[in-house]
Amino acid sequence: MTLIRGALTWSPGWPSPVATDVAIEGGRIARVGERLTPAAGEAVIDGTGKLLLPGFVNAHTHAQSHFAKGAIDGLPLELWLPYLGARVGMLKPQDLYVSTALGAIEMLKTGTTCACDMAQMPGLTDEAIDAVVRAYRDVGMRVALAAQVSDVPPWRSFEGLEEHLSQDVRNGMAAQPPASAPTVLAALRRAVERHHDSAEGRIRFGVGPSTPTSCTDELLVGVADLARELDLTVQTHVAETRAGAYTARVRYGASAVVKLDQLGLLGPRTLLAHSVWIDDRDMELVAARGATIAHNPVSNLKLGSGIAPLIKMREHGCHVGLGTDGSTSSDNQNLIGVMRLAAILPRVVDQRHENWPTAADVLTMAISGGARGAGFESIGAIAPGQLADLILVDLGPTYYHPRNDLIAQLVHADVGASVVTVIVNGEVVVRDGRVTRVDQDKLLAEADALGRRIADAVAPGLAGQIAAGAREALEAISRTPLMREVSALGPFRTG
Ligand SMILES: [Zn+2]
Repeated sequence: MTLIRGALTWSPGWPSPVATDVAIEGGRIARVGERLTPAAGEAVIDGTGKLLLPGFVNAHTHAQSHFAKGAIDGLPLELWLPYLGARVGMLKPQDLYVSTALGAIEMLKTGTTCACDMAQMPGLTDEAIDAVVRAYRDVGMRVALAAQVSDVPPWRSFEGLEEHLSQDVRNGMAAQPPASAPTVLAALRRAVERHHDSAEGRIRFGVGPSTPTSCTDELLVGVADLARELDLTVQTHVAETRAGAYTARVRYGASAVVKLDQLGLLGPRTLLAHSVWIDDRDMELVAARGATIAHNPVSNLKLGSGIAPLIKMREHGCHVGLGTDGSTSSDNQNLIGVMRLAAILPRVVDQRHENWPTAADVLTMAISGGARGAGFESIGAIAPGQLADLILVDLGPTYYHPRNDLIAQLVHADVGASVVTVIVNGEVVVRDGRVTRVDQDKLLAEADALGRRIADAVAPGLAGQIAAGAREALEAISRTPLMREVSALGPFRTG
């Protein structure tokens, strides 16, 4: 039993922070009210001078890439991916553990208590999956984990690429062929049996088709069946770049959103990352089916993917959460920075200022928007019966002086360094800014060694050849009428 006393408290839907105490019992919020009295034996956390909020939910990230932050820059997604793939392909299970733990610590310390993680694991072995799960479990974070899977050869990752890669390059890529749909589905089922609803309910395991076009229909249908049978969350990338949207139109004669809907993969348990190049019909479908879009403005700018139509999504009634994306396209896991960009970026697209998202809007997206996408019941609000995933933000730093509007100052002034206490499932996992369950110094030393080892060993030759082919392919498809049609989706969504 724990009582948080004396804090200013805010939850989505509240007009402004108010002095409210919160009592926790058995991992859930038991009481909410003014000046609560501690029960016998109840631990007290002093919230004086602090802002108490539900923890943020990072609606999109990737466990495997945190070790490579800062390593790859200045490339669009299709040219960046081969360099990331070269690094990730070298990771062993313990490396995945270290990378995952590094990202989880960074998320917790910047106020994120739950992640939606599409973890890509070389080979999709049981050992690799277990290492990622173990890292989240050890750090104590809540996670909706989806193994990122595909079964289409990498030279077909986008339409036009294959024709611009030599046979030698394709042979090099074939050294790590994708597993077949039945093999992938069997591995997912085993992982769900081992890990779904584990770690006192903190870990949900789901399915993550990398993109619809990187999977065969056989795999997509199998994933849909598995998700329906076992009530799993589905996470996937949709229309992240113009080339991605173009590929769906060439292969399906329709958008990826329409294709997902046709296969029964679009529903309240579906999380669509990015959704930059989607049209009005897509947004209507997403809203009608109750799916959630994970908006990743930092990653979309870093990779030059474009600006997602956030205002239009909201006008259509789409549910939207906020994500950092992985650490090679972000390059951090600080959701406060994402909130700020989500609030101000739409202003260059739409001059109707009354449509601009407010600080409270983006904070709500970062809390309850992501919570909905993560698929956990009862997170994302401060109310009796909700799971106790809470953060305390220190109002001492300059960002909060003078106190004009605490929510606006959190979103626009803070840089993510003021979170001092983090509680997940009623347990304090960050106290006085330090993680409580793992040895951070030891993990950082392991991450440093991992980074050096991969940087020394990575051979950029093949990645460079793939990237060169991707560049030629992008130029070739940019001249097609269909690509011009995709580009017309928005002048500020240029890629
Ligand atoms: Zn992603």
